[in-house]
Amino acid sequence: MLWSGWGDPGKAAPLPEQVVALLRDMLGVKPRDLPPVALGDIVPPAPRLAGKALADLAAHGEVRTDAETRVRHTRGKSTPDLLAVRQGETVHTPDAVVLPADHEGVLAILALAAEHGFAVVPFGGGTSVVGGLAPAADAFVALDLRRLDALVAVDEVSRTATLQVGLRGPRVEELLGGHGFTLGHFPQSFEWASVGGFAAARSSGQSSAGYGRFDDLVVGLTVATPAGTITMGRAQKSAAGPDLRQLFLGSEGAFGVITELTVRIRPVPAVKVYEGWSFPDFATGSAALRALIQDGPVPTVLRLSDETETLVGLARASSIGEGGSGCLAIAGFEGEPEEVAARRAGAGTVLTALGGTPLGEEPGESWAHGRFAAPYLRDSLLDVGAFVETLETTTFWSNLPVLYQAVRDALPGHLVMCHISHVYASAASLYFTIVTPEIDWPAAKTAVNEAIIAAGGSISHHHGVGSDHLAAYAEEIGPLGVGVLRAIKAELDPHGVLNPGILVP
Ligand SMILES: Cc1cc2nc3c(=O)[nH]c(=O)nc-3n(C[C@H](O)[C@H](O)[C@H](O)COP(=O)(O)OP(=O)(O)OC[C@H]3O[C@@H](n4cnc5c(N)ncnc54)[C@H](O)[C@@H]3O)c2cc1C
Repeated sequence: MLWSGWGDPGKAAPLPEQVVALLRDMLGVKPRDLPPVALGDIVPPAPRLAGKALADLAAHGEVRTDAETRVRHTRGKSTPDLLAVRQGETVHTPDAVVLPADHEGVLAILALAAEHGFAVVPFGGGTSVVGGLAPAADAFVALDLRRLDALVAVDEVSRTATLQVGLRGPRVEELLGGHGFTLGHFPQSFEWASVGGFAAARSSGQSSAGYGRFDDLVVGLTVATPAGTITMGRAQKSAAGPDLRQLFLGSEGAFGVITELTVRIRPVPAVKVYEGWSFPDFATGSAALRALIQDGPVPTVLRLSDETETLVGLARASSIGEGGSGCLAIAGFEGEPEEVAARRAGAGTVLTALGGTPLGEEPGESWAHGRFAAPYLRDSLLDVGAFVETLETTTFWSNLPVLYQAVRDALPGHLVMCHISHVYASAASLYFTIVTPEIDWPAAKTAVNEAIIAAGGSISHHHGVGSDHLAAYAEEIGPLGVGVLRAIKAELDPHGVLNPGILVP
């Protein structure tokens, strides 16, 4: 992983000179005042952990304190994170990185944290975009879970798999593929994020219409907390009280460290077909997506770009609509050939009846081909001085237009693109991308957060709360909700060693 950006440095895609000139001349993008620092030039402060604490940690995991490892575990991958690390900022650099080998190692490290007075930040793929790896702590260790990387079991009868949490997306697919199964979870961060992070942040993949969000896939969890181990999930559904699994899904490392997950799996689909549809406007396209998800047939992938996103070319403007850009929808179908053909034909009839024009497979395949490429483009735009960031929210269908407008109104004067990224029978999520030459992002982000809450939206559909959304989250759940969270935290983490300042207001 590129320390100051996204992904495999070999896949970097620098912008052609004409595009840089266009950004400069038309948008006013100019190089940043301060050039980025080199990784080797960053000198983090001396570790604040006493030698005894480090020696004790070494008995329960591999301990690394070299500058490069510490810098590589600094913050996550939001744009402010990347801009901060590019300037050599070390405010959120861990004092040490510890790599436990198993669940017992994690438990022992949590006990040491209470004993020695340091905080622990669970670190999966490090792709948080909400400040989930930037604790409000003095001394802290990053608990890198990459050594927990086993496929523990596959239950072909129940169609479940038990996974250790350090596995990253591609490796999970490789391991399950060996048994003829898929998890079907493909967020844009798929290449680098871990399954533990998917659970801890309630991730949502691009095929969520067909496979469900990650929390829909989880049927069992094992969690190491400072108060001990808790294991949940004797069946997919149970009436034995409230579902405690839901307490740890989305808990962002504040209540415990998830070490093992049992997830639902499906047979690897024989056929995958993705196609493009054009709608005259966002409202017409939204109504068509809603009809499909409510009344079927339901595609595996279903998303719709607004006019701006379509025009900007994420959606190949030249082939969309007649006389204008319109709005591009992508519908994808995965499964057995006959079933896919029937579902695709049925969905096509609905989309056509509701104002859609079929564009064929080319836009769909091109979307599928480039689905993990956008983060590389962000790096290239940041490199030339532009500011690019994303945010997301969700609300019920009836309120979607209000929320859409509220977010746009909170970001006046900037290029704001949007797509409907995940759909449900009652609600949908909106995913915004902002591209601008210059912005006071903390102020803009606060304004957007306030607009989302005022418009009845949730502060996050799938990125989570982290530290960035704490204030808005407190407003969303109210004082009693905050009190409940604090009570759970006090029970499971009485010394407050896990992710202070993250999730729990
Ligand atoms: C370019 C890009 C694209 C993205 N696309 C998507 C997307 O399409 N869909 C989506 O849902 N999200 C997306 N994200 C956000 C992010 O990838 C997800 O939140 C992901 O689930 C985080 O996984 P991770 O392993 O990187 O977790 P990390 O970033 O390492 O951790 C996230 C949070 O969970 C905690 N944590 C991590 N592992 C554990 C564990 N085992 N137990 C307890 N707590 C833990 C951490 O302390 C932290 O607070 C994207 C991010 C980027 C940078």
